[in-house]
Amino acid sequence: MAPTIAVVGGGPMGLAVAYQLALEGAKPVLLEADDRLGGMAASFQFAGQTLERYYHFHCLSDQAFFELLEELGLADQLRWKQTCMGFFVDGRLYRWGSAGSVLSFRRLPLLTRLRYLLHAARCLSLRRWQHLDDIRATDWLKRWLGPQGYALLWQKLFAYKFYEHSDTLSAAWIWSRIRRLGQSRRWLKETLGYLEGGSQRWIDALEQRLRELGCEIQLASPVLAMRSQGPGQGAVLRTPAGERHFDAVISTVPLPLVAPMLQAGGADPALVARYSDQLSVACACVVLQTRQPITGNFWTNINDERFAIPGIIEFSNLRPLQGHITYVPYYMPASHPDYQRPDEAFIADSIACLQAINPDLARADVLAAHCSRYRYAQPVCGTHFHQSLPPLQPLPGITTVDTTVYYPEDRGIAESVGYGRELARQVVRALQADRR
Ligand SMILES: Cc1cc2nc3c(=O)[nH]c(=O)nc-3n(C[C@H](O)[C@H](O)[C@H](O)COP(=O)(O)OP(=O)(O)OC[C@H]3O[C@@H](n4cnc5c(N)ncnc54)[C@H](O)[C@@H]3O)c2cc1C
Repeated sequence: MAPTIAVVGGGPMGLAVAYQLALEGAKPVLLEADDRLGGMAASFQFAGQTLERYYHFHCLSDQAFFELLEELGLADQLRWKQTCMGFFVDGRLYRWGSAGSVLSFRRLPLLTRLRYLLHAARCLSLRRWQHLDDIRATDWLKRWLGPQGYALLWQKLFAYKFYEHSDTLSAAWIWSRIRRLGQSRRWLKETLGYLEGGSQRWIDALEQRLRELGCEIQLASPVLAMRSQGPGQGAVLRTPAGERHFDAVISTVPLPLVAPMLQAGGADPALVARYSDQLSVACACVVLQTRQPITGNFWTNINDERFAIPGIIEFSNLRPLQGHITYVPYYMPASHPDYQRPDEAFIADSIACLQAINPDLARADVLAAHCSRYRYAQPVCGTHFHQSLPPLQPLPGITTVDTTVYYPEDRGIAESVGYGRELARQVVRALQADRR
């Protein structure tokens, strides 16, 4: 009989795990706490259109995502566009992101600009990253760019995303981020992708395929407890609907959220602590619809004392939408007092920021605004990060993964999809071997 496998979490990874399980002949049951699928890539209705709660674009290296689109018959819906980048420093907007713009950036000495370009080239040529796992990202960047270059170009980006954790990040993690964007270039020009209809398009198509393949999907079904039944005996999950036994459980929810589930299932407190100790920052992400664009850029980095953000993303400069759509992400540890501020406070701050960048923007030009929040939006990946992760299979019959498992790669749809599919193959193979 086909094994029944629970997949906890219906974000990109959970969806991909469930899909591959079904292809391998297993019977997946997908349990999602939210009222919709998609996780961080989920959408909502905003200003009369379906829009991601958080900006999402694709890079030329997102191979696992392209393969999924191909299988869903959506590959021809992917669009690519040359995008521009900007840098707003102390009240002035500069061009950024190309070799020419860096060379003409007179806020820094020529030598620092050359060091910046050399570092970018090194990130692209580097293949073996293991030695970077020992080094802190801030030390690595200071070494390459010098104190002045680091202070102007990077310090605020770290400070307004990671706050007190800024100095703990690993160089391997920041290298993989720089490389991913650096590789997304055609003829040296930054080239980013979007899907016609946005992320909801592939999520809807995958949901439909899952149902055709016999996958059971339960929305608004938070898993409250998970308990192993011992070697070869599967595991039991508790949701508000009651308890249910599965031949195996694969959790794809952020690792800190696994802690209360294991605890409620009676797991050893030392094991539970391995999950609750995982650090992550939250995100309060404002999206604004305006009458006019703020700049011509897709991404604008910000280094300005008045605004506690690393940058803004003018999404409609990538994907054509109704009105001009800009995301303003406020990342911070959820323990930061500012995270308790009401949505209106974040919206007011973000409008002030856009007006500083583009003084022609009047308050009346802001047509709609919304703030979405994700508690575990970005894991803090420190040095020797793999060693800090809990075991992949903490108890017999239970596998726990999230976006940290593909470190040093940063969280991403393609990474979650690729990893999730490979994991599903391995879990089915292991179950088959157990039964033989
Ligand atoms: C602001 C922002 C911008 C981003 N931009 C991009 C981008 O441009 N390109 C890109 O590729 N990626 C981007 N990402 C990252 C991308 O969204 C993630 O890598 C991807 O969504 C991870 O998928 P996942 O399934 O691993 O995790 P998640 O998306 O976190 O999914 C986890 C799921 O588990 C559910 N869950 C939680 N607790 C329970 C429970 N107890 N029971 C059942 N279900 C539960 C959650 O509701 C959620 O649906 C961005 C993320 C953010 C926050």
